[in-house]
Amino acid sequence: ETHNASQLLSPHNARNLFDSVDAFLFDCDGVIWKGDALIDGVPETLEMLRSKGKKLVFVTNNSTKSRRQYANKFRSLGITVTEDEIFSSSFAAAMFLKVNGFPREKKVYVLGEEGILEELELAGFTGIGGPFTFFHIVRLSCLLIGLRLSSISSLEDGTKTVQLKPNSLFEHDKSVGAVVVGLDQYVNYYKLQYGTLCIRENPGCLFIATNRDAVGHMTDLQEWPGAGCMVAAICGSTQKEPIVVGKPSTFMMDFLLQKFHISTSRMCMVGDRLDTDILFGQNAGCKTLLVFSGVTTQSTLQDPSNDIRPDYYTSKVSDVLNLLEF
Ligand code: PLP
Ligand code: CA
Repeated sequence: ETHNASQLLSPHNARNLFDSVDAFLFDCDGVIWKGDALIDGVPETLEMLRSKGKKLVFVTNNSTKSRRQYANKFRSLGITVTEDEIFSSSFAAAMFLKVNGFPREKKVYVLGEEGILEELELAGFTGIGGPFTFFHIVRLSCLLIGLRLSSISSLEDGTKTVQLKPNSLFEHDKSVGAVVVGLDQYVNYYKLQYGTLCIRENPGCLFIATNRDAVGHMTDLQEWPGAGCMVAAICGSTQKEPIVVGKPSTFMMDFLLQKFHISTSRMCMVGDRLDTDILFGQNAGCKTLLVFSGVTTQSTLQDPSNDIRPDYYTSKVSDVLNLLEF
């Protein structure tokens, strides 16, 4: 499919865009914030759109947080957003399992962080694995000194950083029916083995990726490897391809549309990444607006090898506020 040349957002087409959509879908990193740093002018712009009756939805591929954690992050940045306006790839993974009738008695191995574990739990699934953080060390310490905490399973289920003994077999849980891979800042070789064993040896085990972003922002200073590198590791060891539930897959869009009943032709997807955000919007038939406040530069957009062209582009979200006159 070919798309016409993108247009710079001018006062005229900012007005056209504003009048022709009822909902704005915002990508988060590179649009709302960079790491934990708010991008200039965002709260005022969102407030203006809300006051004009536009529906706002936030769609992030970063799976490390749950919707509850994102609502807290928005709040800490001075933006009021409710959990049901947030669609994170962690939530999408849990919803994918739910929609597809994943059996409750089976477990989900998480090569990822707390956000996925929390969404799985809220959806009624048993997640194992996850990060090995200070929190887990405290739990282990409590176990060792004889205190019994409610859930101490994490250490036997693939978060371990044990050394292999000669001639020992690495055991995994045979009741794992799905492996969910997202960004895990605590990734290690044994977690890769755990996920690989589940996918290779448990019959019918699903391989789900929250997203395949190449890079993301841990801070606003620099880009770091995204979940794409974790997913690629498991692709490499299993020779299988994952089901991707985050952008640009249509899964989150289909889910979102069931909830909000807005026609995609009256939606605008605002994002900083061509191969996730803009493609996600285009796949669904939304209007698309690319901003340069994140990972994409003007030269990437104009590169002849790029065939993903948004309808409009501008430097940052607050341009929408500044270009419109009421
Ligand atoms: N995944 C990870 C791990 C990230 O750090 C980021 C951005 O920081 C992303 C994905 C992309 O998130 P978004 O879809 O909000 O741009
Ligand atoms: Ca982004």
